[in-house]
Amino acid sequence: MADYKLLIDGELVEAASGETFASTNPGTGEKIADVAKAGREDTIRALEAARRAFDEGPWSRTTPKERAEKLRAIAQLITDNQAELSEIEALDGGGTIRKAMLADVPGAASTFEWYARMAEENDEQVELEGSPFPISQNYKRYEPYGVCTGIIPWNFPFIMASWKVAPALAAGNTSVLKPASYTSLSALKLGQLIAEADILPPGVLNVLAGPGGTVGEEMAANPLVDKTAFTGSTEVGRRIMQLASGTVKAVTLELGGKSANIVLDDADLDIAAAAVLFGTFFHNGQVCESGTRALVQRKVYDEFVSLLVDRAGKIVIGSQLDMDTDLGPLVHRSQVETVERYVALGREEVGEPICGGSKPDALADGLDRDAFYRPTIFADVDNKAKIAQEEIFGPVLCVIPFDTDDEAVAIANDSIYGLGGGVQSGNLDRAQAVASRMRTGTVWINDYHMLAPPRPFGGYKQSGVGRELGIEGYRAYQQVKHVYVNPETAGRDNHFHFAVLSANI
Ligand code: NAP
Ligand code: MG
Repeated sequence: MADYKLLIDGELVEAASGETFASTNPGTGEKIADVAKAGREDTIRALEAARRAFDEGPWSRTTPKERAEKLRAIAQLITDNQAELSEIEALDGGGTIRKAMLADVPGAASTFEWYARMAEENDEQVELEGSPFPISQNYKRYEPYGVCTGIIPWNFPFIMASWKVAPALAAGNTSVLKPASYTSLSALKLGQLIAEADILPPGVLNVLAGPGGTVGEEMAANPLVDKTAFTGSTEVGRRIMQLASGTVKAVTLELGGKSANIVLDDADLDIAAAAVLFGTFFHNGQVCESGTRALVQRKVYDEFVSLLVDRAGKIVIGSQLDMDTDLGPLVHRSQVETVERYVALGREEVGEPICGGSKPDALADGLDRDAFYRPTIFADVDNKAKIAQEEIFGPVLCVIPFDTDDEAVAIANDSIYGLGGGVQSGNLDRAQAVASRMRTGTVWINDYHMLAPPRPFGGYKQSGVGRELGIEGYRAYQQVKHVYVNPETAGRDNHFHFAVLSANI
């Protein structure tokens, strides 16, 4: 029996195969729960349920106001269960309990609230100009796509679940959500809470845990689906696009990054150091918009680099459940192995890192050293190096010197990615001029990682397609229909098209 069940058509169920898989605490290797493991059959059942709920069910006929009320009820449910959800999130993925309590769980609640507002505040029907050709009544209607699938990664499972489900439901779509296999628990728990509170009609929200290669592929390829939204690696993002192309589905993709955080010579170096360290090492660098390339102007380079090393040494590594911990385990031992491979490559390409470069020496009893990694900084990195070009998704920072603002912009843009970025400067005009030239979806000035529901988020270049959050993230779940009404039902002679086509029909 699974501790965490799938949500399909309003019911909490085992997988059709009866199979389960274990979810573990990466910090200790201990099993936390058995999870029902969906396969193709469960996925098709969920997609059919979502299709029925859209085509025949009440959801697509609800008013925006009715949907907003349901979303607010979900936000309240999340807030009421904040402590339990935070613990599940931290235990399962290795992120700190501080992050879960202060960012993940309240962030998800505020995402549901934001999209409730979006549904209420944005008219579904908008009048258009009535002329020319010929004078007529015209309007556009924003309508839901239908069945939307959401496939999410392991780094921010709860927030990512809210980013996929809330806008889909707000706009009147039905949703099928798949969390990553390393971190399925919080999304399944959300499904369970919503089902038990009986907030949504059956089939409107379905949650499936199971392998990306079967469940995820079906969710991107199946003709019952109208739109697929994916967050994860660029490699899988390409695959999603290919699968979705079979029935020309809409896709939004939130993919990898290798973002630049530019430190100009007039920056307050204390603030800049905080922005660079937080920008890189928050959640062990397992964040798509992490500023893993710090570009530092040569005039302040030496002073700034020693500040970084000094402060990085103070970061506390330990159990993710301890409120004093800054960095818990990475999501899985395999992610630590990836980091080790890149650090070995960095030693060949650049030389010895100026801090970190290994697992921590000593940890409290019960913690598995192989799941942790020290914050690591490589200095004097050439932007062409692989460690400066490829997404590591671990606590590794490359520091790159530059001389002029033009050079900083050129280095920042010399990347296949364009997701986030920072400019640290005491001169706002100068900072904004640099920010405007960075080919990236977000730039933080004198800060980093500050995302919130009203602020659109997404990537340029190979970091993705489309935007989440903001009004853009709401419209991304709607199609637009133009309706033309000929006001002159009599008097055919006046009709423009009769004049253009033929006088005889
Ligand atoms: P991933 O392989 O792209 O997985 C993301 C999601 O896609 C998971 O739910 C995964 O399911 C699913 N998936 C995997 N293969 C699929 C397929 N063929 N069709 C449909 N869905 C599929 O990412 P990851 O393994 O978690 O991490 C790998 C790298 O991706 C990281 O090192 C990092 O570079 C990047 N990443 C980026 C973000 C971001 O926010 N942009 C987040 C996480 C990771 P399973 O979990 O069952 O495989
Ligand atoms: Mg886990």
